[in-house]
Amino acid sequence: MKRVASVTLREERGRVEVCETVDGATRGLPWIRFRRGDGPRLVVTSAVHGNEVTGIRALQLFYDELRARSFHGTVTCLPMLNPSGCESNRREVSETSEDLNRFFPGRSDGGFAERLASAGYQAILGESPDCHVDLHADSSESIAYVILDRYLNAESAQLLPRVESLSAAFDAIRLYDWPLDQYRSSRLDASLSGSVLNQGKVPSFTVELGTLRYADEAKAVLACRGLLGVMARLGMMEPGATGGPEAAAPKVELRRYTPLRAERAGFGRFLVRAGQRVEAGMVICELSDVFRTRVEELKSPVSGVVLSIPDRYWFSPGMGLLTMAVRDE
Ligand SMILES: [Zn+2]
Repeated sequence: MKRVASVTLREERGRVEVCETVDGATRGLPWIRFRRGDGPRLVVTSAVHGNEVTGIRALQLFYDELRARSFHGTVTCLPMLNPSGCESNRREVSETSEDLNRFFPGRSDGGFAERLASAGYQAILGESPDCHVDLHADSSESIAYVILDRYLNAESAQLLPRVESLSAAFDAIRLYDWPLDQYRSSRLDASLSGSVLNQGKVPSFTVELGTLRYADEAKAVLACRGLLGVMARLGMMEPGATGGPEAAAPKVELRRYTPLRAERAGFGRFLVRAGQRVEAGMVICELSDVFRTRVEELKSPVSGVVLSIPDRYWFSPGMGLLTMAVRDE
């Protein structure tokens, strides 16, 4: 790609203004755009959940790569879609304590979270992307994994091969989200990747990157490599470690699953680790009361791989005990 190397890099940055704040300043979403001539367009976002900050670090590494490498096309990053949540190191939007990732595509004349969602969503679709990647994080005891959204209409369903191929650039387990009824009842159709895919008709997926509240360096490196791999698969740069546009992508046959919920309140001691293969019937957690006079052994009803164990010790009835990848049947 000698032709590509000669195209100079244009780097621009700015802020999408969202609203004024009571201290007389404004809320805005910082963005940065790297362009080398014409070509495919990639948009990457992070920190929709304000305390999921590894994506911000991954993007810092990614900017350095974009400055150093030859490619063609445009990469736009919005690294901080929930600025108040990020500042206060919490998942929700600080102003209203709402989960921003259940309000997309948002409304510019709606409630606070809807307006914030709308500003981010419009900025993403305004780039006319060929692919969008949203970077998240799960827990301290979690592996990196890629979540693919459910297809809610015929048009988005046509994007399935493209989503599966582009997401294969990440060296991580790939899986579909919860079964459709749970996907809808959990309002994941209003998540950012779910909206960009099903309403924006753009290939979009979510990448989970470990710890909350601080950046996991190894997973940031993994994500940066994955993004470069997405560019290679989009035909924006030379084929990378995971291949170029024609590279094969194994079919995604797993889905997200919560195998166990607490039936009694208690403290959970997990007997498995993230990344571990679990067989059906294996004891995965002991749930005890505070004096350890009652101890329940909880067995996994299915076989699969542990994706994450929540960052908490106590559980109330109904709370999911861990997240697994199981066969999508
Ligand atoms: Zn998240």
